[in-house]
Amino acid sequence: MAQLFSNYIDGEWVNGGAVFENRNPANTEELIGKFVKGTAADVGNAAQSAAAALPGWSAMSGPARGAILYKAADLLDKNFEQISAEMTREEGKTLPEAKGEVRRSINIFRYFAGEGARMPGMLVPSERDRVHMFALRKPIGVVGLITPWNFPSAIPAWKLAPALICGNTVVLKPASAAPLSAWRIVEALAQAGIPKGVVNFVAGPGGELGEALLNAAPLRAVSFTGSCAIGTRLHEQASRRRLRIQLEMGGKNPTIVLADADFSSAVENVVNAAFFSTGQKCTATSRAIVEDAIYDRFVEAVVERTKKLKVGDGMQPGIEIGPCVDQAQMNTVLRYIEIGSKECGEPLCGGRRLTDGALANGWFVEPTVFAGVGEQHTIAREEIFGPVLAIMRARDFQDALCIANAIPFGLSSSIQTTNLSRAFEYIYRAEAGLLTVNLPSAGVEYQLPFGGTKESSFGPKEQGPAALEFYSDYKTVYLKY
Ligand code: NAP
Repeated sequence: MAQLFSNYIDGEWVNGGAVFENRNPANTEELIGKFVKGTAADVGNAAQSAAAALPGWSAMSGPARGAILYKAADLLDKNFEQISAEMTREEGKTLPEAKGEVRRSINIFRYFAGEGARMPGMLVPSERDRVHMFALRKPIGVVGLITPWNFPSAIPAWKLAPALICGNTVVLKPASAAPLSAWRIVEALAQAGIPKGVVNFVAGPGGELGEALLNAAPLRAVSFTGSCAIGTRLHEQASRRRLRIQLEMGGKNPTIVLADADFSSAVENVVNAAFFSTGQKCTATSRAIVEDAIYDRFVEAVVERTKKLKVGDGMQPGIEIGPCVDQAQMNTVLRYIEIGSKECGEPLCGGRRLTDGALANGWFVEPTVFAGVGEQHTIAREEIFGPVLAIMRARDFQDALCIANAIPFGLSSSIQTTNLSRAFEYIYRAEAGLLTVNLPSAGVEYQLPFGGTKESSFGPKEQGPAALEFYSDYKTVYLKY
């Protein structure tokens, strides 16, 4: 019998009502578990319990809150292998990738647990005699967190940990396609002794629960990661109530490859960034913009490398590319491949759903490379979120930079070059929130700010010290002695 995973409201695991299934995208015959399908009423109760818990939690000292976060991190660490395997089974990414993500979640909890003992405010000299002036941080209140399926543990972690350490209380609504990884974090927090009502977890349909969350009277802020379409809608709703809002959304990330690049690392970095995690990273490379002088040789090398990628069930050793997360996502990818084939010609490799043998029960698509893609083509402009790479030709560095920037998105961007001067010019002129030089466009760490620019993002950055800016407010004090 599949395990039933309950919602967590006011310190209680809450059952009852309808359920929904969590299935393995590599083998849909495998039922991982059933989740209680939360309702608008559950979200309302969760927000009320978060409001009731706020005075106690925010009055607790930062180090005391940090101690609970450290304990939750230790509990996740204790169950590291199991939690990683569950992530592979619910989301499809390979086991090494899942382990990397769970490790990151643990590190995020420890990093922000430490912030409890710092919580930097400001202390500056006054212009006036015998006046002491400073600003201290205070929590903003009840915060709603809405997360996507592609980093089902790290994204909940990088929202929950800073929200909690700042003294806020939260309602977390995870993605329906992969709720178990987030559930494990909430379980760890509960076992670590977080007071009742401080953390609430309600899984279920985004439309109904999102609406209820944004209308919940106690809510003061919402942090969302997901698609631009939903983010834009949430922004409109939040503005009506003047909720503080943070949005991290889609991208169409470029990697510029210059003729002076270390050729084999450039090939490896582009293939890694385009296809690992099945291209389902918000920072994945979906456009390789290649300088004319090495274009043909680069296309040939990328195609050759791509054809060697091993696609299959991410639990098996040696597999590099797992399935799309669900049928809808696979159909989206196949639709874009069809559009790409019509507009730019057949792909040089890949392009089909894979159904041989055991793959028949999963949502597998071959890693696909299109070449000769122009700026006007759909697959160069719209986010696909799957294993599809568009290779574009650029006359030179300046042309490549123009192509890279000429899109509405600005999440991540990469350049492959050994020319220091061009690397710096790129750093100053590339329109993206995350830049990499001679690395894949994907693969970030938690110690620095994370987030995009242009239509990819809105509001203060996540992670690193910047995360405190969203989850806290300053209280400024002038004191005459
Ligand atoms: P999504 O469809 O926008 O869903 C994200 C979350 O919003 C899910 O929890 C979803 O719930 C919920 N939701 C759906 N409709 C809602 C509504 N009307 N009101 C409130 N919440 C609602 O995105 P996704 O398919 O999960 O994730 C893929 C997208 O996320 C891509 O565009 C990717 O680029 C982006 N992403 C961005 C970043 C970043 O940091 N910039 C990181 C990762 C992913 P259900 O699951 O129940 O529908």
